[in-house]
Amino acid sequence: MTARLMVFTRDLRVHDNPALAAAAQGGEVVPLFVLDETIISRHEQNATRLSFLLGSLRDLDASLRDRGGQLVIRRGPWVKTVLETAAQAGAGQIHLMNDVSGYAMTRLARLREQAAGARREVITHPGVMTAGPAGLSPAGGGPYQVFTPYYRRWLEVPRRDLAPAPRTIRVPGSTDAGSIPRLADLTGARRAAAAPEPGETAGRKRLRDWSRQHLAGYDDNHDDLAADKTSRLSPYLHMGCLSPLTVVHEVTGMPGADPFIRQIAWRDFFAQLLAAKPEAAHRDYRSRDGAGPGRRWHHDPDGLAAWQEGKTGYPVVDAAMRQLAVEGFMHNRARMIVASFLTKDMRIDWREGAAHFMARLADADVASNQLNWQWVAGTGTDTQRHRIFNPVRQSQRFDPDGRYIRRYVPELDGVPASEIHEPPAAARTARKYPQPILDHAQAARAWRSLG
Ligand code: FAD
Repeated sequence: MTARLMVFTRDLRVHDNPALAAAAQGGEVVPLFVLDETIISRHEQNATRLSFLLGSLRDLDASLRDRGGQLVIRRGPWVKTVLETAAQAGAGQIHLMNDVSGYAMTRLARLREQAAGARREVITHPGVMTAGPAGLSPAGGGPYQVFTPYYRRWLEVPRRDLAPAPRTIRVPGSTDAGSIPRLADLTGARRAAAAPEPGETAGRKRLRDWSRQHLAGYDDNHDDLAADKTSRLSPYLHMGCLSPLTVVHEVTGMPGADPFIRQIAWRDFFAQLLAAKPEAAHRDYRSRDGAGPGRRWHHDPDGLAAWQEGKTGYPVVDAAMRQLAVEGFMHNRARMIVASFLTKDMRIDWREGAAHFMARLADADVASNQLNWQWVAGTGTDTQRHRIFNPVRQSQRFDPDGRYIRRYVPELDGVPASEIHEPPAAARTARKYPQPILDHAQAARAWRSLG
């Protein structure tokens, strides 16, 4: 019997990996990961994400070795390298997971076309989303454009069973495994100092520990900026160290699970939108109403730099941007605050903000990032497109005693809670903290006047 090729992409796990389970069934398998030159150069600035990828590959290799196999690593143009490896292994079948970005779908189509010419079969499997896309289209067809009806349907559709982790992996003896590169081989950039621990093993532990300790309080605490009690599972979900279905299975029936599972549905929601409209990664999902001159984005490189560096003079915005720099992570509420500030107060194009996030986040994910940015910017699927967050009120509400601000903006350490959300001018000067770069009340009036 000839070996099958298992091509890992964003599914760096042995548990609930339908592609791996199918490829490993009953014979030899070559478990391959190709460091795709295009993706590496696209993420070259994001050393946090690349480092998470490399660590996750090391963990996957260890899990495959525990089962008698090993991970085969290649680097190069993805389609060509996959086909070369298939030819070397004499593999008639190539198994991999379906994905939702325009790049992944185009890459897969090219693989299918070229594999057919070489008489190799490409077999794709689910795994990126919890549910669907089968059975998850509204009556008129296309993707769901609004979350609530999507979520109602999402809760109803039957889910596949979890795929069992293979007990043994038999790799043909002649296979050259190659080696996992070091971070410095891929980028000169530096990863965030407090980046998350990579890999399936760490992700499964985090899921178990967090759900036991914090799931029950999720609904009450998930918006509390300083408490930091959300799951922080996003990088594991993005890289597929955990399948979203595993997460849902693990928590179902536990106290407090429903609001948390709803967030996993948001992830699926954006993934199905991107799959249906891949150009939404860089174009407005919906054109903005009355797109006249007043609606044009501002070109403001100094303002953009102040936002990126956490020097806007709005403490909660600055704390969030500095959290991103230090941890490669930002709290969801903070992501909404800073995105609203950039697009609606500063009127800077959402693409600028999304690109900065993509270059910093460990969980940088085209579907969740670009479509959340669009949601906040009013070009996406938010039904209240003219909403604008007041950064001072958000700060008072979600960081009442200023602990989140003090954690990331040490200049403001001694400022009392009553003043920390909007420190007086003299306190700013004394602490070398910037004066506000704009007046929110005025910016909000200007934004709303655009109608
Ligand atoms: P939890 O609150 O514990 O939620 C559990 C999981 O649900 C998350 O890990 C995530 O997979 C999913 N989830 C939660 N909220 C959302 C949401 N609004 N949209 C989609 N999925 C969600 N998420 C990313 O994974 N990658 C991104 O690049 C990304 N960029 C974002 C950009 C902006 C402007 C905004 C507003 C949100 C973005 N999000 C992104 C969504 C969300 O902020 C993160 O998923 C969440 O903060 C991750 O923290 P957590 O794992 O502790 O979340």
